[in-house]
Amino acid sequence: MTTSSPFALHQGVLHAEQVSLAKLARQHGTPLYVYSRHALRQAWQSFQDGAAGRDVLVCYGMKANSNLAVLNEFRQLGAGFDIVSGGELARALAVGADPARIVFSGVGKQVWEMQAALEAGVKCFNVESEDELRRLDEVAQGMGRQAPVSLRVNPDVDAHTHPYISTGLKENKFGVAIEDALRIYQHAATMDGIRIVGVDCHIGSQITEAAPYMDALGKLIDLIKALADHGIVLHHLDLGGGLGIRYTDETPLAPRILLDQVFQTLEKHALANLQLILEPGRSLTGNAGVLLTTVQYLKHSDARNFAIVDAAMNDLLRPTLYEAWHNVQPVQPRPMQDDTPRYDVVGPVCESGDWLARDRQLALEQGDLLAIMSAGAYGFTMSSHYNSRPRAAEVMVDGDRAHVVRPRENIQALFASEAMLPD
Ligand SMILES: *Cc1c(COP(=O)(O)O)cnc(C)c1O
Repeated sequence: MTTSSPFALHQGVLHAEQVSLAKLARQHGTPLYVYSRHALRQAWQSFQDGAAGRDVLVCYGMKANSNLAVLNEFRQLGAGFDIVSGGELARALAVGADPARIVFSGVGKQVWEMQAALEAGVKCFNVESEDELRRLDEVAQGMGRQAPVSLRVNPDVDAHTHPYISTGLKENKFGVAIEDALRIYQHAATMDGIRIVGVDCHIGSQITEAAPYMDALGKLIDLIKALADHGIVLHHLDLGGGLGIRYTDETPLAPRILLDQVFQTLEKHALANLQLILEPGRSLTGNAGVLLTTVQYLKHSDARNFAIVDAAMNDLLRPTLYEAWHNVQPVQPRPMQDDTPRYDVVGPVCESGDWLARDRQLALEQGDLLAIMSAGAYGFTMSSHYNSRPRAAEVMVDGDRAHVVRPRENIQALFASEAMLPD
């Protein structure tokens, strides 16, 4: 496998692998999500290279992109799955995932979700509060089972030195404070419905350096030693997901670099016998997908130029939600001049927040096709029907072939299950 991007220009037309994106847009319409199977495999391979014979379980954080074709690809490659809902559990089981490779994260697990996961026999519940632990104990006992448990601790990694961290801080809703963890583990050890198997954290997303992971690891190691002193021995250590990708000019953290550092530290503390779990989402799918959209109108004013396209915040929410930056690439680029205008690329939704990119120099004409790059993670999965817009179709390219992995939704289906009150 080559490491070049599967999205590249061939004879003036942007392709996904060997398939022209212009052709896909003609065949399937826009907005259209296009994924590259090769890119998924390439991203997976970088974790395999990093694992290099060590006891590492990579559980794909499937909320990034949970299309069955994507899940099935990762299952075939040997991935486990990190799920955050009963719905995601059902998707994982639908592609034949091995429950013994599924970890269940999330702050708000409901009783039915716990039951479904116990029934399936998941590897581990990543428990995020003492309340949840009590409920899980009850539910498991009610089923005559024991729930395998890891406590998600919040290592309170310093945000000032690592600005991209957003979920590993004290003021955050996720996990339990690391100072409380020993006490809660001791409580868990008294519960008949609970079997302690590990510890986990997930400190944030789009992290591009190893340092925050290593800070968190250091704190987890202290906890693991304290637990051992109290007779609580763990089987695995889960460092979560969060590895960044290149949206613009970031240098992503290679899994190998992270894993080498992690195992060096574990060995130093005689803990390399622990299984290591990672839960990458974005880094496995983000750069494996683009969102294709067609320019509907160009609108020029003194203050600003707008390219109004047929994709919108309901298709790709990240710009609106996080002010995220996505590269915008014309599928058939026109020559640029110094006075080529700069555009805000916006959708048709009735919200000022409905934009996909801002202030981009683009040589555009009505009808041109644009590719919103790096849209393979947190793209389709965050999409909605807002403004009664059917959701985009999804296509997976594999070499010179393209497979529709989810057809465009039809308008009737949007409200087919709604009902009016009786007269
Ligand atoms: C979202 C999430 C992930 C995946 O995060 P990425 O930044 O996409 O790698 C992993 N673990 C948990 C608990 C999550 O909530």
